[in-house]
Amino acid sequence: MEQNKDLNQFDIPLAKRIQSNNFNSILLKNLLIFSPLFFLLFSIFALRLIRNIDIGSLGYHDFQAEINHDQRILGHLPYAEISKEKLVLIEPNIKVHIDMQDSLLKMRDEAKKDGIYLVFLSGYRSINLQNEIFYSLKSVRNQVAAERARVSAPPGYSEHSTGFAIDIGDANQRETDFETEFENTDAFKWLIKNAAKFHFKLSFTKENQYIDYEPWHWRYEGSIEALKVFESSNSKS
Ligand SMILES: [Zn+2]
Repeated sequence: MEQNKDLNQFDIPLAKRIQSNNFNSILLKNLLIFSPLFFLLFSIFALRLIRNIDIGSLGYHDFQAEINHDQRILGHLPYAEISKEKLVLIEPNIKVHIDMQDSLLKMRDEAKKDGIYLVFLSGYRSINLQNEIFYSLKSVRNQVAAERARVSAPPGYSEHSTGFAIDIGDANQRETDFETEFENTDAFKWLIKNAAKFHFKLSFTKENQYIDYEPWHWRYEGSIEALKVFESSNSKS
């Protein structure tokens, strides 16, 4: 009796073990049979995922391009206002970025040696001042914003707020100040020939598609900071 009991005790675990082994081998078989199917399903899933990511990122690039394009307001790119400590007064009412001070004054001196008298009309302008210019002139001239923006930047969108822009006139032909006719002056002809030597560039050429031609408006690109400020503008023109 005791022996039987022992046998029974011994038998049960053995049976359990057999059952367990059977279960494992069935599972293994199933896995072996279905593994190609799993692999196929996984591959399809992975391919779809990769395709979706590609499509997604393409869409993202298009979206970015639109954002970059949309940065412009009425054709003008946004510009941050320069910090006050980087501004220097070069003559009454004319402040510019300290980076361009030497170059600008040297350019005026060199022009003088050639008998050309450059006048600085406008340098740094605060966003507040640009605000006044843009909105008051717009209403005085009875122009809507889009018309006004052809000749003046909306506040926050003027190169003048960077301190790197300078409007230049001819001392002998002041009637051409801020006029397209400035292009016929000796000062303008001299600038076209020499300004690049001093790292100045005409911002709004006749060819630019956004803003009216401004022969009097020059910008400085002779420092890393200046190049960074105008990088977006240079990459699109
Ligand atoms: Zn200007």
